[in-house]
Amino acid sequence: MTDEITGRDALVRFLERLLAIPGMTVYAPVAEGDGAVFDRISSVSEALLDFPGAVRSPRHILTPMTEKLLSMGPDGRVEEAIPTPGPAVLFGVRPCDARAIAFLDRVYAGGDRTDPYYRARRDALTIVSLGCREPRPTCFCTTTGGGPLSPEGSDILLEPSGKGWSVRAVSEKGRALADATGIAVESDGGNPDAGSIGAEMTPRVDIAVLKKVLDESFDDPRWQTLTAKCLGCGACSFICPSCHCFDIVDGEEDGVTVRSRIWDTCQFKAFTKQASGHDPRPTGADRFRHRMMHKFSYCIDSYGMPGCVGCGRCVEACPVNLDIRRLMEAFGGDGLE
Ligand code: SF4
Ligand code: SF4
Repeated sequence: MTDEITGRDALVRFLERLLAIPGMTVYAPVAEGDGAVFDRISSVSEALLDFPGAVRSPRHILTPMTEKLLSMGPDGRVEEAIPTPGPAVLFGVRPCDARAIAFLDRVYAGGDRTDPYYRARRDALTIVSLGCREPRPTCFCTTTGGGPLSPEGSDILLEPSGKGWSVRAVSEKGRALADATGIAVESDGGNPDAGSIGAEMTPRVDIAVLKKVLDESFDDPRWQTLTAKCLGCGACSFICPSCHCFDIVDGEEDGVTVRSRIWDTCQFKAFTKQASGHDPRPTGADRFRHRMMHKFSYCIDSYGMPGCVGCGRCVEACPVNLDIRRLMEAFGGDGLE
C-alpha cells in the first residue's frame, strides 16, 4: 500500500501527526543564519522544510558536544549519568546523514562494545529521512557507497515521487511510527528513478582502490604538498556527521566532581601529544593524512564501511578550500568508468 504525500503541505501534516503523538520529541531542521540546524521543535511553523542540506549535521542529537558521563560527591560515591530519553523522531535528515548514523551505530554500539549513553539515545530515536531530488555541487554520497535515496540508517525514507513524496518504511521501528501517525507506506519500496539521481557526482573513485593506495602511501611526499595549507582549525571535523573523536575532562560543580566528554578532533595540534612531550603527528600534513587514512582505510578495517558518507560539508566549510575530493582523486585515481 502506498501513500503519496503531495508537496510541502503533506510534509506539514506528517509533522503535525508526529508532534501530536503523546510524549514524542521531534527534531527537525530549523533556520539558523543562512542555513539550517537540527533542533527540537514544538510546532510545525518552526521547521524548515525547503532546504538543500543542513549546515550542521544531526550528530549532536546522539552525541552531544558536551556530555556529562558521571559525577562523584565528597563521599566518593559515583553516579553515572546515563540518559533515559523518551521516544523521539529525527525528521528531515538527508540519506547521507542517516547513513552516517548507521556508521556511528557501528562505532558506539557495534560488535561486543556498546556505549550505554549512545545506546540509550539511539534506542529512543526513529529516523525519518528525506530523499534528495537534486544533490548539491559538493555532494559525493555515491562515491562512498550511499546515494540520494539510500535507505541505510533510515527507519522511514520519504522518496521524491512526482511533486510529492512516497513513504517507505525501512525498519520495524519505521513501520510502527507510520502506524502511529496513520500514514500508509509502500510495501516494496524503491523509486524506479533512484539510479539516475546524482549519477554525475564526482569524484568517481573506487573506495577499495583508494584504501589500497592509502595503505601503501603513508610516507608519500604528496601529503606535505597537498595539505600544506591546512590551518588545523578543525572545522572539517566538527561539521562532519561521522567524525566521533572526543576528549574526557574532569571538572567541579558545587563541590561535586563531574566527568564529561567533549567533541575533539584529530586536526588539532596536540591531539596526540603525549605526556613525554612527544607528538607522533606534529605537522598539519601528518594530521590530515591521519584524517584521510582513518576515514578511508582504518574505518573500513574496523567497521566495514568508510568513515565518510560524502555529505560535502567539509568541502564547503574549509576556510582554505582544502577539498577532500581532490585528495581522494590524488590517491585513488579516476578508477571508474
Ligand atoms: S569527511 Fe567531509 S564529506 Fe565526508 S562525511 Fe565528513 S564532512 Fe561529509
Ligand atoms: S577545515 Fe580545512 S583548514 Fe580547517 S582543519 Fe579542516 S582541512 Fe584544515
